[in-house]
Amino acid sequence: MRTAIYPGSFDPPTYGHLDIIERAAGQFERLVVAIGVNTSKNPFLPVEDRCSLLTECTGHLANVEVMTFHGLLVDFARSLDCRVLVRGLRAVSDFEYEFRVTMANRRMAPDIETLFLITRDEYSFLASSVVREVSRLGGDPSPFVPPSVAQKIAERLK
Ligand code: ADP
Repeated sequence: MRTAIYPGSFDPPTYGHLDIIERAAGQFERLVVAIGVNTSKNPFLPVEDRCSLLTECTGHLANVEVMTFHGLLVDFARSLDCRVLVRGLRAVSDFEYEFRVTMANRRMAPDIETLFLITRDEYSFLASSVVREVSRLGGDPSPFVPPSVAQKIAERLK
């Protein structure tokens, strides 16, 4: 079965992430949205909330699963017998970081390929960091995230 993994922090999930998920899900038999658990980072939303929000927001896509992983992404990919990683690209500024990560992953796991999907133009400015900033400053995140995510953010900032 052709499985792909779409890894990220998704802190919080945005319409930009969901666009990549929908498009990637159309290209593979199974898509695993994988939330990396980074114990050294202080997350905005707890990983359990990100997991349940992503599960709910992808409920209409039968071939999408949401999972969390610790440690190296390539080890997680191997544990699922998956050879394809999907990442989104918004702007040239994403490229340098993605290039470095892809090269490192390729050195560790030459059999695993990374595929990039270019953002839809209406989401090219959209990043989780923008949503966090807008929300923390009292702005309404609704244009950028699904209603359930906006609600969770409001609870978090109460
Ligand atoms: P990271 O893994 O760097 O923490 P994120 O969780 O923010 O990144 O995002 C996961 C992936 O989704 C990355 O490949 C990122 O480039 C991509 N992505 C995030 N926002 C968008 C967007 N608006 N359009 C397309 N891709 C996006």
